[in-house]
Amino acid sequence: MNNIKRNIVEVRKEIEKYSPYPEKVKLVVVTKYEDLEGTKKYVEAGYKIFGENKAQLMREKVDYFKHENIEWHFIGNLQKNKVKYIIEDVTLIHSVNKLELAQEIDKRAKNINKKVDILLEINIFGEESKQGYRLEKLILDIENLKKLKNLNIIGLMTMAPFTEDEKIKRDIFSKLREIQINLNEKYFDNKLTELSMGMSNDYRIALQEGSTIIRLGTRISKGDDDEYENI
Ligand SMILES: *Cc1c(COP(=O)(O)O)cnc(C)c1O
Repeated sequence: MNNIKRNIVEVRKEIEKYSPYPEKVKLVVVTKYEDLEGTKKYVEAGYKIFGENKAQLMREKVDYFKHENIEWHFIGNLQKNKVKYIIEDVTLIHSVNKLELAQEIDKRAKNINKKVDILLEINIFGEESKQGYRLEKLILDIENLKKLKNLNIIGLMTMAPFTEDEKIKRDIFSKLREIQINLNEKYFDNKLTELSMGMSNDYRIALQEGSTIIRLGTRISKGDDDEYENI
């Protein structure tokens, strides 16, 4: 078995072990580090759910692998003028962090008669450097977001800060779940079903805290001899 396949099998077992509802959890394999050539080995491993963070590169990969039936997720900071590259083929945009971006996605989706699934990215820790909605700002925008008929807002996404401190990460993930519950009650009628949280260095904690989508790059690409930090 090649390393990618084996890593995916291992992660599937960990999902069973750590998640309170493993049947709800989806693994997005993050292929953003790879060019077209490098992405082939993921396709050959037979996996079909990939995450990208550059619109043009995702476009190239979509075209190149168009017969492979791959589900493409967009996980990076998306500029308004790049929405056109991904709108037709994207399965889920994880990183909607501004009203203007949501409006642009809605407009482009409407033009092609599509409803696009999106997540709202929340910046919980409040790091200036991190993308994502501050909760207060999101609340102000919610009514306008809900008016966008070609968007399905199906959940929330967050990134925990890079830190060795497990408690900080756990608090952030559990906070996202709290926010989900509150927003569902007040505004979304329980339509926010997804929590996209957990990357290679913190997915086990995220799973324990109720993640439904983990986004893993280095955990899946690592080879037998690579150093890999397990926390
Ligand atoms: C790169 C990236 C990932 C994957 O990161 P790894 O640490 O390689 O697992 C997940 N989510 C987002 C938003 C990313 O940009």
